[in-house]
Amino acid sequence: MLEDNINQIKTTVSQACQKVQRKTDSVKVIAVTKSVTSEEAEKLIPFGFTDFGENRTDHLLEKQAALKDYDITWHLIGRLQRRKVKDVINQVDYFHALENERLAAEIEKRAEHVIKCFVQVNVSQEEAKQGVLLDETNDFIEALAKYPLIEVVGLMTMAPFDGTETEIEEYFTQLAIKRDEIMALNWEHAPCKELSMGMTQDFEIAIKAGATHVRIGTAFFKD
Ligand SMILES: *Cc1c(COP(=O)(O)O)cnc(C)c1O
Repeated sequence: MLEDNINQIKTTVSQACQKVQRKTDSVKVIAVTKSVTSEEAEKLIPFGFTDFGENRTDHLLEKQAALKDYDITWHLIGRLQRRKVKDVINQVDYFHALENERLAAEIEKRAEHVIKCFVQVNVSQEEAKQGVLLDETNDFIEALAKYPLIEVVGLMTMAPFDGTETEIEEYFTQLAIKRDEIMALNWEHAPCKELSMGMTQDFEIAIKAGATHVRIGTAFFKD
């Protein structure tokens, strides 16, 4: 049931925070609503969840229209095709999957205001996975300085589905170290304070490693 799932998530987040002496409110829970209808998503709002994540442009826009009476922060968390940029980029509060310069150029072209972006990093170097490699991250972010409408607010990653807890923690920690490194460069276009990592399977580990944004779908909406 939804209410049980919510309580479970809240407990897990606060316990994970306690273990590493972080404040519970230092972790933003993004409810990933991609598997449910707008009506289902709406039920989360009275419980205080108002950050919603979608990985498809059309679904995000549909839900946004259906829930327009609420003050929701919208996160586009998945791959964005260049031809879709114009439809959605001015509608989202955060884009979590910036990973190549052609996409950055298209965002710059279509943006009507500064767009808050996470750079997606393929920490585990899986072939099929999106994102820049850790080694390429500095150069990529430095190059984004030429797009004044792109602000790099942080880094995002996805852990391998079949990783062990130790491996996943290692990947998340590597991303946290990279975030610290970029932040220390004090680039005006890349404050890079945030870390978007952790899903249903691994958000506890992510919080331990310093996640500021966890993206949780299944744990909310499972039976
Ligand atoms: C679906 C999705 C999530 C949420 O995954 P769950 O395992 O359902 O919590 C998080 N991030 C991205 C990028 C996703 O596509």
